[in-house]
Amino acid sequence: MVKTSNNLEFDLEYIFKIINKQNPDKIGLQFPEGLKRQSFNIASLIEDHTGKDVIISGDPCFGACDIDYYLLSTVDIMFHFGHSTMNIEDNSTVYFIECQSNIDLTNVVKKAIPELKGKKIGIITTVQHTGKIQSAVKILESHGFEVILGTGDSRIKYPGQVLGCNFSVTDSSQCDEYLYVGSGNFHPIGVYLSKGKRVIIADPFMDEIRIVDPFKTMKQRYIVIAKCHDAIDFGIIVSKKGGQKRDKLATKLKKLAKNHNKNAYIIYMDLITPEQLLNFKVDAFINTACPRIAIDDVGNYQSPILTPIEFEILLGERNWDDLALDEIRGD
Ligand code: SF4
Repeated sequence: MVKTSNNLEFDLEYIFKIINKQNPDKIGLQFPEGLKRQSFNIASLIEDHTGKDVIISGDPCFGACDIDYYLLSTVDIMFHFGHSTMNIEDNSTVYFIECQSNIDLTNVVKKAIPELKGKKIGIITTVQHTGKIQSAVKILESHGFEVILGTGDSRIKYPGQVLGCNFSVTDSSQCDEYLYVGSGNFHPIGVYLSKGKRVIIADPFMDEIRIVDPFKTMKQRYIVIAKCHDAIDFGIIVSKKGGQKRDKLATKLKKLAKNHNKNAYIIYMDLITPEQLLNFKVDAFINTACPRIAIDDVGNYQSPILTPIEFEILLGERNWDDLALDEIRGD
């Protein structure tokens, strides 16, 4: 196991085994932003041990949805760090090297117990804590809770695992409320809005408990929809990234716009930033790429960015009560 500076671990022996078996000439490495600082160290370990050439992707990488296909076309195999597979890649050329957190979950989960009001608790988490999530299950069970770790769709590898764009593990679970073990608020807010149930956050990094309050996010989204009230011209953003590309949805939205006497133009992009959109003069954008773009960077774009669900609400095709975060679902 190799430990990174941010309390993550990954299995270097597994990487060596694959290289021995596949005997590639050139190896690509791809890292999310949080691991890029370790990239030279990891590349040196691989080169020194195997004698193979390693090339590192320098482009931003946001998830397993975001494979550097250009690099992949110039190497024999690629190791993609920090994410679990979404089952959309050829398994013999792209290997996902998950990085598991070595942070202990015991304390923070015990701290969450007084905040739990239901009997049936759905546990949700991100990939880096899936290796230790059974310890959270045992703690809750020992306190008399019924614990559910739901199974997700094909984009999800582990029971209880959520992505910023996929809460499918909550579909099958008949829970009273959810306990999210992890950092950040985006995933638990998404689950709250998707299921309409309380979500308690047990954050092992901050060692604190937070109760999800989606009010700010919902208010922001209502404001964005309201701003588009008189919009006529829409740019529909489609991502070139393999796991974010929803061109069929974009075509459907374009037809819908036409039916409502709106103009809509489909725009293909790789990296979506405020600068990249600046010269497209439309009243609003509809984002079919990573659902986080419309939410996380809401104030940074010159024109409002709607999710597909919000566009349907704007057109009166869906009720305001049905507002939920956008998701990209697998099979
Ligand atoms: S689409 Fe967005 S939320 Fe989903 S995996 Fe990719 S980067 Fe993460």
